Amino acid sequence: AEPILRVRNLEVTYYTDSGRAKALDNVSFTLKAGEKLGMVGESGSGKSTLALAMMRMIKPPGRIEGGQVIVGDTDLMSLDQEGMRKARLSRIAYIPQGAMNSLNPVMKIGAQMMDAVKSHLPDEARPAIEARCKRALQSVDLDASVFKMFAHELSGGMKQRVCIAIGILLDPDVIIADEPTSALDVVTQRQVMETIDNVQKAINAAVILIGHDMGLMAQFVDRVAVMYAGRLVEMSTVREMFTDPKHPYSRALISSLPSLDNKGVFQGIPGLAPSLLRLPSGCAFHPRCASVMPTCSTIRPEAQILPGGRSVTCHLYDGEALHEGRT
Ligand code: SF4
Ligand code: MG
Repeated sequence: AEPILRVRNLEVTYYTDSGRAKALDNVSFTLKAGEKLGMVGESGSGKSTLALAMMRMIKPPGRIEGGQVIVGDTDLMSLDQEGMRKARLSRIAYIPQGAMNSLNPVMKIGAQMMDAVKSHLPDEARPAIEARCKRALQSVDLDASVFKMFAHELSGGMKQRVCIAIGILLDPDVIIADEPTSALDVVTQRQVMETIDNVQKAINAAVILIGHDMGLMAQFVDRVAVMYAGRLVEMSTVREMFTDPKHPYSRALISSLPSLDNKGVFQGIPGLAPSLLRLPSGCAFHPRCASVMPTCSTIRPEAQILPGGRSVTCHLYDGEALHEGRT
C-alpha cells in the first residue's frame, strides 16, 4: 500500500538569545495506513518537536524552516491557516503530553467533545454530533454516561481515553499521541495502549506513539524510530530493533533495557544528552559512541536506507542515501 504519511526533510530551528538551536534536523520517514510507529529518545531529542512540527504548532522563537508533511495527497505545509485548522483532527490528530490534565474542569465531557466537532463541522445537526461523540466514547470502551460527567469524576485512565476519543472524532488518517501512558499505573498503561490499538484498527489510521518505555511500546507498535539531538538516527521494525539494532545509540538503548517485559523502562545510557545549542561536531553522538571512528568527529553522517528498508544515520553503514537532497 502507498504510504498515508510522508514526512520529508522536516526542519525546525529555535532562535534563542543564546543562539540558534536546530531542534529538528532533516527528518524524513513514511507510514502506511494501519501502521504503528513508536518514537523514542531522551528528553530534548526532538520527539515532541517533531509532533508539533507535523501539526504546525511550533511556537516562536521556534520556526519550521523547511520540509513537507504529506497526508494522503495533501502537504500540510502548503495549507493556509484555515485549511490547517480543519486538517487538525480531520486529517491528523494530536493528543499532547498531559492532555488528560488539560480537559476543561467546569465543562461536561460531552460539551467539550461537541465543541471539538462543531468547530470542524459547523453544519452538522446537534443530534448527529452527539451520536458521533457517543460513538467515539464507545470505541474507547467508555460508557455513554461519561458524556454528562466532569473530568474530576473520571480516573486517569478514563480521562486519557476521553482524550483518545476526542482525537478520533473526525476519523483522522494520522494520530500522534505524546507520552499517552505517562503518569498512569502499569495496568492502566496497558489498557490505554490496548484502547489505542483498538481505535487504530477500527479507523485504520497510522499511529505515532511518543514515549520512553521501549518495553511497553514494543508490544504495541510495528516499527520504532529513535531520535537523537534532533535527528532520526534509526527506524526499524520492532523485531529488527530488538534483535539487531544498527545505530550505536539504538544498541545502547536496547542493552540498557532490563528485559523485554513490562519493566523495560528506559533508564538512560552513560553520558549527557548534548545541548542543541552546542552540538558536538560531525556526528552529535560521537562523544558517547562505543563505536566512534576518527571521521565521526568531523563528518556528519546522512540518513541511509539499508537493504530491507530500515534507515540509519551512522558512518558504520554504507546504504543508499535516504534524502532526495536537502530542502
Ligand atoms: Fe558512532 Fe560514528 Fe556512527 Fe556517530 S557516525 S553513531 S560516532 S559510529
Ligand atoms: Mg516530550
